[in-house]
Order: sequence, then C-alpha cells, then structure tokens
Amino acid sequence: MNAENALDKLMDGNKRFISGDLKHPNHDPKRRNDIKGGQEPFAAVLTCSDSRTPPEIIFDRGLGDLFIVRTAGNIADEVALGSLELAVAEFSVPIIMVLGHQNCGAIKLALEETEREGNIGKIMELIKFAVDMAKELPGNIQDNTAKENVKNVVNILKESSEIISTGVKDESVKIIGAYYWFDDGRVEIID
Ligand SMILES: [Zn+2]
Repeated sequence: MNAENALDKLMDGNKRFISGDLKHPNHDPKRRNDIKGGQEPFAAVLTCSDSRTPPEIIFDRGLGDLFIVRTAGNIADEVALGSLELAVAEFSVPIIMVLGHQNCGAIKLALEETEREGNIGKIMELIKFAVDMAKELPGNIQDNTAKENVKNVVNILKESSEIISTGVKDESVKIIGAYYWFDDGRVEIID
C-alpha cells in the first residue's frame, strides 16, 4: 500500500460516512481473529480526543486498519511523536494524517485570554503558535486557528522526529494535514 492508495481508502470511507451509506468493514469476529497475531494498519491518524472525532467512524474503518494517536487539540508532544514513530518504524504506515476539527474545545480554550496552568497549560502552550498565526487571517478565527494548528503539527512531525523526517525524505511516508467539518462530516485536505 502506498500513500496514494492509503489516502484513497480513507477518503472513500469518509464519503460513505458523509452519505450514511456505511460498510462497517472489519468489525466482525473473523477479523478480530485474523489479526490477533499482529497488526498491519494502513494509515496513522493523529486527531483530537474529542468524543465527536473517532477516526474509525469518520473513515468507516474497523479493527486493525488505523494506528491512532489522540490528544486534546491533536497536538504532538514527545509521547505522541514517539507513538507515531512506532507506526512508521514498526508498522511501515505509508501515511500519517493530522486531523483537526470544527468547534474544537482545546482551540477555543487557547483563544481565551485566561492563562491555564499545569498540564492543561502545556496543551495551550503548544497551540499558542497557531493562535498567533491565525490572528492575521481573514475569516472564522476558530477554524483558522485549528487549521494553523494542524499545519504546525505537520511541521513538527517533519522537523522534530528523525524517524518520520527520514521517512518523508525517502518517500516511504507522507504527512497529510486535514480538517473535519461537523456540518456535513467532510474531511478536507488542507496540507
Ligand atoms: Zn478538539
């Protein structure tokens, strides 16, 4: 499976999700049994912890299909980066999708003036760059910030991980930035 096939597979599933014509592939006991010895996910997805954004549902996939990392605001700290490195190094995923979404609570919080402390404050620090970038842009500040955050995380993946950047250079892995719209269920490729 190359990056193009993997992205097609994701987007085909998203089309089914948008229309409601779902296939629910790989949900059955046979699949569960077939993959018990090991996984061969065809894509990695870094998305938000938000209960409304589960990748298996948005892309109409099932067991063993997607290697998923979820953090509030789909940010990449060391542990998220390490997890995605495992997807590349151990499972040779051809793509990593960074998926932001409409009406994200973490983005909303980062746009507020009040400072957050502790671990939530660390999340806000990682989104701050996107907040600054989006200030200059016309249009919806919330969507713009979330999209800038996706682009920033794509750059972090390319620049802060030896394993991922090597994969990008030798074209064994492609990083894709995307945005999920609650309005119609669509996943828009943005980077
Ligand atoms: Zn969110």
